[in-house]
Amino acid sequence: MALAGLPAMIVGMKLGERLESRRAFLRWLAGGALLAGVGGTAIGTAAWQILTRLDSGHGSAAPGVSFASPSPTAQPSPTPPPATAGALAPVISQGDTSKARIALTFDDGFYPEAIESVLDVCAREGMQLTFFPKGALLERRPDLWRRAVDEGHEIGNHTFDHTPLTYFPPDDPATEGKILDQIDRWQAALDALLGSPHPARYLRPPGGMLSDVVRAVVAKRGLQIVLWTVDSGSVGGAEADQIVANVTGGATNGAIVLMHFIPSDAAALPAIVSRLKADGFTLTTVSGVL
Ligand SMILES: [Zn+2]
Repeated sequence: MALAGLPAMIVGMKLGERLESRRAFLRWLAGGALLAGVGGTAIGTAAWQILTRLDSGHGSAAPGVSFASPSPTAQPSPTPPPATAGALAPVISQGDTSKARIALTFDDGFYPEAIESVLDVCAREGMQLTFFPKGALLERRPDLWRRAVDEGHEIGNHTFDHTPLTYFPPDDPATEGKILDQIDRWQAALDALLGSPHPARYLRPPGGMLSDVVRAVVAKRGLQIVLWTVDSGSVGGAEADQIVANVTGGATNGAIVLMHFIPSDAAALPAIVSRLKADGFTLTTVSGVL
């Protein structure tokens, strides 16, 4: 990803949190400010974390798996917190660059009409994509999520209540349990809705906020962390035409595209599908591009 795209990504993330939950957004800011320490800012912390992650992602040898080695994002501390002692969950931001495949991913689920519209486009086009619903939203329209699973879409963990996982203080002994609770409650909600276990393979952290502590805890559930290569820009306020331009302009082999179940992304989807298919891309799930 070009570094020039970072400011938009960061702004988009901030506005996205606001869109989803003012309370969660404020908690996220508070967490960011806490982690930033004296002289830092919440946004500065987010930028720093993303820049560091991108930095460490370059030169990664494994196709589709970036940031696999411990990055320098750990909070400075003379004694590392216990959670970092084990393996870190791999972080995927792009798939196999040798194949003309692109993963379109949709997050959250605040707008049922947008979920329905995306499902309709997928059914018409015969495509399966990857969705990362917020756990607490699953029971609002269980019919739509059952339909998504029935129609072959891939469902990934996006935490139960969308609290950015870096909000939990890295040196607090309760943090591991709180992060696991977010993961497990999401899974329990999906399983209850489907009536049988449907274990997720992937987790997309709310806001893309990550730390080594978070990665270590996620590893305990055997999940791979999925970020993105291209942001549609919808949560930053882009309208459908701009979203189409953002996604098609950033389309590359193995790209993972971040979109949301909101009206603007849903409205942009048909044109995105038509243009990317005309350019020879197959549109598929995250698993499909790895
Ligand atoms: Zn989200």
